[in-house]
Amino acid sequence: MYKISKKCLSCGTCASVCKFNAIKIGFPYVITEKCTNCGKCAEVCPVFAISKVSEEPSEQLDMTKIPSHIGIIMDGNGRWAQNQGKNRIFGHTKGASRVKDIVKCANDLGVKHLSLYAFSVENWARPSFEVSALMKLIQSYIISERNALHAENVVFRLLGRIEGLSKDVVKEIDISTELMKNNTGLTLNLCINYGGRTEIIDAIKKIIDKGYKSSDITEKLIAENLYCPVLPDLDLIIRTSGEMRTSNFHLWRAAYSELYFTSVLWPDFDKKELVKAIQTYQNRQRRFGKTQEQVTTQE
Ligand code: SF4
Ligand code: SF4
Repeated sequence: MYKISKKCLSCGTCASVCKFNAIKIGFPYVITEKCTNCGKCAEVCPVFAISKVSEEPSEQLDMTKIPSHIGIIMDGNGRWAQNQGKNRIFGHTKGASRVKDIVKCANDLGVKHLSLYAFSVENWARPSFEVSALMKLIQSYIISERNALHAENVVFRLLGRIEGLSKDVVKEIDISTELMKNNTGLTLNLCINYGGRTEIIDAIKKIIDKGYKSSDITEKLIAENLYCPVLPDLDLIIRTSGEMRTSNFHLWRAAYSELYFTSVLWPDFDKKELVKAIQTYQNRQRRFGKTQEQVTTQE
């Protein structure tokens, strides 16, 4: 992969020798999807502004600033399938296979928690054949990936309301959760029958059932009664397919999350895309309500 540095004088020579139209002129940058890595551009640059960079994710990122908790709204399976002239179920199947690569990449990068929005409480309103196909896919994903996830030292968890899920799905969730409970790698939180508001409502119900008074209510108490109290706030939320909303995902833990929206459809969201999202996150300044000056002084 070739990159153009800030030394660039915008002379345009590199673009004129690129046979693949892989250099955008103006303030030039390399269009990675078109670049064949031939290296011609680097040879002609008068100021040596073009260089080959490693495609190894760990070499493109600041490994001291890997987000601890990433959430992904995996959107675009239906549109991806439509683009291929196939039905939505085909897209969901392809999307499920993408999960495998992203979990592995996140684990390899040292991400501690990955929350994947697989099925929301609102998704029950979809056509019944699609709901039933999605549930079957989730079940078969849990079964087929169980040993591989365990071998990768992943901890598996359900995040969502267990009520409403079929006995078969619950059984497979329980087997995976039990098998991987002592692992120490990435925690995969599969959000099924999940809604951010539902999670908060369920937490409040638990608090009331425990006999707390309104004067006892604090942020800490609510956080302690969410589905998984040990799960930290999200550092980064990624949404694929170009939609720019968070759709009731992790409302409580998303208070200070960085948001990253990409037009890439979920079945096309690969390691490179994950690295791009993390690079964007690493270039943001997180303020948590403070001023820029305060944060800069702290850094
Ligand atoms: S040849 Fe070098 S200086 Fe000229 S536009 Fe390309 S990168 Fe910039
Ligand atoms: S490496 Fe080759 S294909 Fe890629 S931008 Fe440079 S000249 Fe174009």
